[in-house]
Amino acid sequence: MHLAQTTTDTNDDLFGGFKDFFHSGTWLAIRNVFLFFLVIFWAASAYWVYKDARRRIEDPWLLAMAVALGIFPPFLGPLLYMFFRPPEYLEDVHERELEIKAIEESLGTADRCPVCRAVVDSTFLACPVCTTKLKEACRRCKAPLEPLWQICPYCETPVESPRAVGNL
Ligand SMILES: [Zn+2]
Ligand SMILES: [Zn+2]
Repeated sequence: MHLAQTTTDTNDDLFGGFKDFFHSGTWLAIRNVFLFFLVIFWAASAYWVYKDARRRIEDPWLLAMAVALGIFPPFLGPLLYMFFRPPEYLEDVHERELEIKAIEESLGTADRCPVCRAVVDSTFLACPVCTTKLKEACRRCKAPLEPLWQICPYCETPVESPRAVGNL
């Protein structure tokens, strides 16, 4: 009887101790600090999503959706964003587009008529659109010759300069 009474008292003390702890100022302080860091971390993760999305997403609606996902659900949203975000930065995409454009332009100028800008083949002797003479043909094999060539590379016939033609 006496023993049972003591056990009950101890249980009450232990439980009361926990209850006191959870209602004590220490517990409240710990809880508040924990919540404070949770909110800071939540805000930081949302801000990170905003910063990252701005560098990857051009469309304002998609950007707003990404930011909303960064805010809610907390922590899970930024994680989901990381899985589904565009793999490249906008500046990299832009740079690559410029490079492709530059390559296309350099290819384009090589095969265009200098007068009307029509696309011409490198073997054309004249522009089919504006009839501008593009290249001389070899006297013997009729192959198109570059302006600097002194001899036809296909049949070894010397190229006649316009002055030589005048002398004949
Ligand atoms: Zn032309
Ligand atoms: Zn030739």
